Amino acid sequence: MLIKNGNVITENEILKGFDVLIEGDEIVKIGKDLSGIEVIDASGKYVMPGLIDIHTHGGFGGDFSDATIDSYDKALSFHSKNGTTSLLTSSVTAPVEDILKLIDMTRRYKAKENPICRVLGAHIEGPFISVKNKGAQKEEYLRRPADGYDFISKNVDVIKTITVSTELPGMADMIKELKSLGVVVAGGHDDGKEEEIYPAIDAGLSLCTHWYCAMSTARVENGKRSAGLMEIGLTDDRLTLELLADNHHIIPQLLKMAYKMKGADKLVLVSDCLRAGGQPKDGRVYTLGRENDTEATKFIVDLGVARLLDGTRFAGSITPLGVMLKNVTGEGIPLVDAVKMASITPARVIGVDELYGSIAEGKKADIYIADAELNPEMTIVNGKIVES
Ligand SMILES: [Zn+2]
Repeated sequence: MLIKNGNVITENEILKGFDVLIEGDEIVKIGKDLSGIEVIDASGKYVMPGLIDIHTHGGFGGDFSDATIDSYDKALSFHSKNGTTSLLTSSVTAPVEDILKLIDMTRRYKAKENPICRVLGAHIEGPFISVKNKGAQKEEYLRRPADGYDFISKNVDVIKTITVSTELPGMADMIKELKSLGVVVAGGHDDGKEEEIYPAIDAGLSLCTHWYCAMSTARVENGKRSAGLMEIGLTDDRLTLELLADNHHIIPQLLKMAYKMKGADKLVLVSDCLRAGGQPKDGRVYTLGRENDTEATKFIVDLGVARLLDGTRFAGSITPLGVMLKNVTGEGIPLVDAVKMASITPARVIGVDELYGSIAEGKKADIYIADAELNPEMTIVNGKIVES
């Protein structure tokens, strides 16, 4: 396959009018006037690495927590249509047996050879989170390290990341153990204080889950002000921040603050997209997490974001990464950096950057082609066109 004459976005620049030559599933050459078969004319279009979403729950009506082939296929199709070529399936706080179902289905999809969107593993969101900042997650299913986390340690072939709250007793030891098993530990839905957050970072915590949303912040206690994860996330270079850049959870001022302080190497765009992504926004009620869970939290979509029925909180987004690129560049962030935040930076966070995350010779041919306004044109996974 030869992608001709596109504006090719590499890690650090846009190469105008360049060709990308693909052989099999690999990018073999980037240059001018290359020759090859199966030519795709990309004149006037952007040719960028396939986007990598390390925090998403679903789309097109399917939630990964449903743990069904139908829901996985729907959700993967939604993200693939919008330029995402790899993702982690995110769980919600739920009974352990339900989380294990998501892990098992994720394992099956991870093994697929020619997917429409790669499933690289799972992100376990909860149940080791705080009551105070549980957000839309269910309180009765919350756990502490002492309640046991074997179901995490025994499934590290699938689990790439986990979101935890640092103030839970025993958390620093749990972080140390999970990190040693290769799991990336993120802080979020937390109620941590300085004296709990810094030891957690020392133990290996390296990511902030949807930074600024459902997160501890500076507070005064006993006459002393101390920082929360929100401020420590911005100021500690060991932490990378997830940005839910749907213009609702992260508004332009927050985006600019994070970008100025962290830069594109320490920021990751995440969709945190719920099953309502790509679905009608006509006031219908959706389920957060597993569809047939009668106890599950419900939400509606109103004014471009998922909200709990009483309107008090956001429940997640309906915005895929491809649309977030428009949001972010619309606020003046250079396109190269916006793409970086949705490709090579997340690839580095989960340790898959040798194969994925940039257009470079020797990397897997996962490519997203968008028009000059960043609307989706074509998605290529493993050297095969999966959406056009
Ligand atoms: Zn989430």
